[in-house]
Amino acid sequence: MTDDGTVAGDALRGDVAVIGDGPAGSALAAALRRHGIDAVLVGPDEPWTATYTTWADDVDGLDLLAGADVWAHRFGRITVRFGRTHEVERPYGVFDNELLRRHLRSGVRHVTATIDDASVVGARLVVDATGWPSKISGPTGSASGEEPAWQTAIGIVLPAPPPGALGVPTMMDFSDPGATIVGRATVPTFAYSLPVAGGWLVEETVLSASPPVDPEALLPVLAARLDTSVGELIDAAVSIERVRIPMGAQPPGRSESGPVRYGASAGMIHPATGYSIASALSGADRVATAIADQIARTDPTEPIDPAPIRRAVWPDPLRRSRHLHDYGHDVLTGLDRNGIQRFFDAFFDLPVDTWSPYMRIDTQPRRLAAVMVRMFAVAPWSLRGRLMTGDLRRFSRLLRP
Ligand SMILES: Cc1cc2nc3c(=O)[nH]c(=O)nc-3n(C[C@H](O)[C@H](O)[C@H](O)COP(=O)(O)OP(=O)(O)OC[C@H]3O[C@@H](n4cnc5c(N)ncnc54)[C@H](O)[C@@H]3O)c2cc1C
Repeated sequence: MTDDGTVAGDALRGDVAVIGDGPAGSALAAALRRHGIDAVLVGPDEPWTATYTTWADDVDGLDLLAGADVWAHRFGRITVRFGRTHEVERPYGVFDNELLRRHLRSGVRHVTATIDDASVVGARLVVDATGWPSKISGPTGSASGEEPAWQTAIGIVLPAPPPGALGVPTMMDFSDPGATIVGRATVPTFAYSLPVAGGWLVEETVLSASPPVDPEALLPVLAARLDTSVGELIDAAVSIERVRIPMGAQPPGRSESGPVRYGASAGMIHPATGYSIASALSGADRVATAIADQIARTDPTEPIDPAPIRRAVWPDPLRRSRHLHDYGHDVLTGLDRNGIQRFFDAFFDLPVDTWSPYMRIDTQPRRLAAVMVRMFAVAPWSLRGRLMTGDLRRFSRLLRP
């Protein structure tokens, strides 16, 4: 419905309507525009307030971002800390959400409306990019068939970097914060620390837990890590960010009907990191190309067959890669702080080119399996047993179409 309560009607006709104007929907709409496709982006036009970051080299070469400056901050290297501190020689960036949004939406027809029922949309193809769980198609399942686990975090934007180790850009600090979550003492947490628009963000995060940890429960842990009190932290806050990301939310079933899902709605979230911005940006051209092909083959008065488009969102090989990422998620969530430190110390000791494919959901399964085998080979003996604690059936699914 539009703001004044009427269905947007004719505005939602055309070849493609992308419902959901977050990063994924906006990226797909931008890619469709580049292909010259008659598409409309539909959503409430809410501001993007989350801090969005990514490995910058995952998106640097994308035609979708060609010539655009979309960064608030970019670093040539970034710190990670486990049992040891590693300076990772790989570019990492914090998006300037306003620049990214403006760039993606440039030249895109945008209708400010929310849609609860896709059947009111008259376009020949409807894409659901309304996030997870989808507001029009519902949730996809989790790998276990249960509710997905959740990454949760609380972030405090301070006016200046904190003193100490977190005063430099740090992607993961899994050192012991000196406090545990009340009632969930065995759930390990890590800190994240970066300059953002308006200050410096320090965030305490649970990588993945089921049931989810309430972000507020992480405040005392963050305060202990920064050697301060919750009260002083809140008083110093320029703003507060609360994070909830579904971990292990699955791709839609192959036989799903209804709108084609894209972005978080389609489970395009890395199960071991929670990241999805890079996959939404880099997958957009693949999906737009499939849509363009389908339009070229279809009578202009007929609907566009969604099946090939669904296969472009989740090609079979990437579904197989997904099983391996889910396995990685299982292993990581089974490790205590000490196990995580040993795992990631070994991981980040590998050359960047070896481990970086693991961080993308669009890495081909054989390459991904090779990273995992290499990881197993270099892991300390004390960790190898734990690396076999995931669901091994996921490996066997590699062989299935
Ligand atoms: C605080 C936070 C920080 C994060 N940080 C990172 C990060 O650093 N890096 C990373 O890769 N990922 C990050 N993520 C995870 C993930 O990338 C984000 O969740 C991302 O926003 C997902 O993009 P999306 O467009 O698929 O979904 P969403 O961002 O959820 O967008 C969905 C859009 O659909 C619109 N919408 C909802 N209902 C309707 C409706 N009925 N009709 C029309 N429109 C509708 C919404 O207004 C919204 O604009 C973060 C998530 C959070 C919550």
